[in-house]
Amino acid sequence: MEWCRSLPKIELHAHLNGSIRDSTLLELAKVLGEKNVIVFSDVEHIILKDDRSLQECFRMFDLIHVLATDHTTIKRIAKEVVEDFAAENVVYLELRTTPKKNEAIGMSKQSYMKAVIAGIKSVETVEVEFIPSDDISKKPVKTPPIIDSFGTNTKKIYVRLLLSIDRRETTAAAIETVELASEMKDLGVVGIDLSGNPCIGEWLTVLPALKRARELELPITLHCGEVPNHKEIQAMLEFCPQRIGHAIFLKEDQWKTLRSSNIPVEICLSSNVKTQCVPSYDDHHFIDLYNAKHPLILCTDDPGMFSTNLSREYYIAAKTFGLSKSQLHEMAMNAITYVFADGKVKKALEEIFEDYERKLT
Ligand code: 5GP
Repeated sequence: MEWCRSLPKIELHAHLNGSIRDSTLLELAKVLGEKNVIVFSDVEHIILKDDRSLQECFRMFDLIHVLATDHTTIKRIAKEVVEDFAAENVVYLELRTTPKKNEAIGMSKQSYMKAVIAGIKSVETVEVEFIPSDDISKKPVKTPPIIDSFGTNTKKIYVRLLLSIDRRETTAAAIETVELASEMKDLGVVGIDLSGNPCIGEWLTVLPALKRARELELPITLHCGEVPNHKEIQAMLEFCPQRIGHAIFLKEDQWKTLRSSNIPVEICLSSNVKTQCVPSYDDHHFIDLYNAKHPLILCTDDPGMFSTNLSREYYIAAKTFGLSKSQLHEMAMNAITYVFADGKVKKALEEIFEDYERKLT
C-alpha cells in the first residue's frame, strides 16, 4: 500500500461532493442539527454507513447537497478535497462537479463555481498549479511538502475542472452548464461530464447540450452503463465521447463497439463493488479491458462516499489481478494520454513520471 501511495497518480473521475471527508460532513450536520434544520441523530448513521446501493448513494448525495451547498462550505470542501488527493501523491486531479443554483442563498451556477475555485486557490499543504497565468502558482507553500518513504517529494498538484450535467436537468439547464464551461475555459475548466442517477432522465434531453459542448470544443466524458439500459449505452457509444466512466452493463456487441472505438474507460473498482453493480473485485471487467490493452484509467469516483483513495484503488487492482509494480507504474503513466488538459500540462506530467523513475534506479 505504501508503494502505491508513493507512485505518482492521475485522477480523472472524482466528484467534488462525493469526496468530502466524513469528519467534515458530521461537523456540517451537527451545525445544521443545532439550528434545527435537520435532526443530527437521523443523519449520523447515514453518513457513517460504508456500503450503499447505487440508489442509496443518490439519496446520500441529496443529503450532502443539503449539508454542503453554500459558498463558504463549497470553498472549504474544494480545499480539503485537493489536499486529500495531494496527500495520496495524486499529481493531476480532474475534479468534476455539478454547478448548482439556489436563489434563496443567492447562489448561481457561476457563483457556485467561483466558490469551488476559491477553495482550490486556498490550498496550503501543497503547491497547486491551477491556472498557469495566475499568481497562485507562485504562492509559497506554508507547510512542508509531503516526503514519503521513497523520498518522493509531492511538490505540486495540477488541478483542472469538469462541469457535470445532472441527468435530472432540463435541456436548457444542461446547455447553461455547457456555456458556463466554455466561458470558464481560461479558469481551469477543461470539459463536460454527464452524471447523476442513471435511472432518471433521458439521453435525448441532454443530447443537445452535449452537441453544443462538441461545437465549443469541450471534451466530454459520460457515465455509461451503470444500469442495463442498452438503448442508452448504444447511443452513448455512437456519440463517441472522449472518455466514458464505469462501462459495466455492456452487451457482447457493445463490448466489441467499445473495443474497436478505443474510447478510454474510467474504472472505479470500489464504487462498482460497494454499490453492488459488480458482484466482486474478481468479477470486475477491469481485467478483460486490461488484458485487451484497452485504454483505461483507475479512478476513485467518490472517495468520501466509498471510504477509499486512489492509492487504495491501485492496491486493490494489484492484489485482485496480480499486477506487478511495473504494470501499476505503466498504468499510472498511461493516464497522461487521456487527461483533458493541454499539451503543456501533459509534458509536465511526463517529466514528473520520468523524475520518479530516475529516483527509483
Ligand atoms: P457534485 O457534482 O455535487 O460535486 O457531486 C455529486 C454528484 O455527482 C451526485 O449528485 C451525482 O449527480 C454525481 N455522481 C457522483 N457519483 C456518481 C456515480 O457513481 N454515478 C453517477 N451516475 N453519478 C454520480
